[in-house]
Amino acid sequence: MLRAVKFMLLATLLLALVWWVGGLPGTVTAHAGPYAVTTSTPAALLLLFIIAVLLTMLLRVLGGIRRAPGQLGAWRAGKRAAAGEAATLRGLAALAAEDAKAAKAEAARALKLLGETPLALMLSAEASRLSGDAAQAKAAFAKLTQHKELKFLGHRGLLRESLATQDHEAARQHAQAAEAAYPGAAWTRAQQLELALREQNYATALGLTQNKHEIAALATAAAQNAASPSQALGFAKQAVKSDPQLAPAVVALAVALRALGKTRAAKKTLRMGWKAAPHPLIADAWSLPGATPLDRAREAPELAAANPGHVESELLLARADLEAGLTGEATRHAQAALDAGADDGRAQGILDQLAGQPAQPTRFAWICESCHHAQPDWAPVCPVCHKIGSLSWRAPGTALV
Ligand SMILES: [Zn+2]
Repeated sequence: MLRAVKFMLLATLLLALVWWVGGLPGTVTAHAGPYAVTTSTPAALLLLFIIAVLLTMLLRVLGGIRRAPGQLGAWRAGKRAAAGEAATLRGLAALAAEDAKAAKAEAARALKLLGETPLALMLSAEASRLSGDAAQAKAAFAKLTQHKELKFLGHRGLLRESLATQDHEAARQHAQAAEAAYPGAAWTRAQQLELALREQNYATALGLTQNKHEIAALATAAAQNAASPSQALGFAKQAVKSDPQLAPAVVALAVALRALGKTRAAKKTLRMGWKAAPHPLIADAWSLPGATPLDRAREAPELAAANPGHVESELLLARADLEAGLTGEATRHAQAALDAGADDGRAQGILDQLAGQPAQPTRFAWICESCHHAQPDWAPVCPVCHKIGSLSWRAPGTALV
């Protein structure tokens, strides 16, 4: 309704204007040299109006022609960007499908179309890595470290490359830079832990885990590798606190205490360890290294008393008596071990030895709970599956008690 009123008003005004112009009196004469054109005022005004409209149209067309190259360039750039983006997406899909050749081709296309944008660089770096081109991957990752947003990805890639080539120094630097670029990342922590383990730097590795089992194993290894007895004492205490049943930790603590002249504390530690979980390593550490078999047989009961009647206590006494030539006592304790449920052949082995038969090798070993690899000596990390603190002392085929 309002529109109709407006239209009517405008039409009336226009009509009035035309009426007024049409009614203007007089003439207009234009002189050009010897020529003179005379016309009525309304016709002259109409002509002026037509000329103004034509001029405006001409200017519009000229402006359009002037802007055309720029618009064409923008259109072309848009098309290029779209093609580059499509190449990047195809490259990412090829990466996920582990198609190295296609990923590399798409990465090259993306770089050509988009230039060295962070995303194109990342695609190029990962594609180079997938196809085994370490030099190109490193160059692309190095360029990525210059970008504020993707710095972490750059150092992450360089860290992986350094680990692959065993360049531990470079790996450490990139791990630090990655941590600075993205603080608290679980991935960086895991890499730093792996790096420390590769270098057998257990003290550093210790600071990178929260797992009690792992702390016990790593602190034990750190104590074993410590530069001084007081340093070893600190690590060993931490290890025993984290896992009082880990025999190598108990022994490491006793060794450190002895090195510092604290013999009584060392004995107390071994007795407590024996009470918590009797183990041949603790039995071996009980007497001093230079002790004779007779000394050992004399000292063994004190340790066995920490866990009286236990299979391991009876076996400890039987073995010590056997080695000291106290056959009667050895037989009694081996029999007691059998009665206490020693069915893994060790007690029977002592009885067989007493009967003059050759000693049977022990079936017990440190066995990885993760991959079941077995070895005679304890280690903080499984040498096969690299799991930390996974070794436990048992006979193959038996479950961990
Ligand atoms: Zn393993």
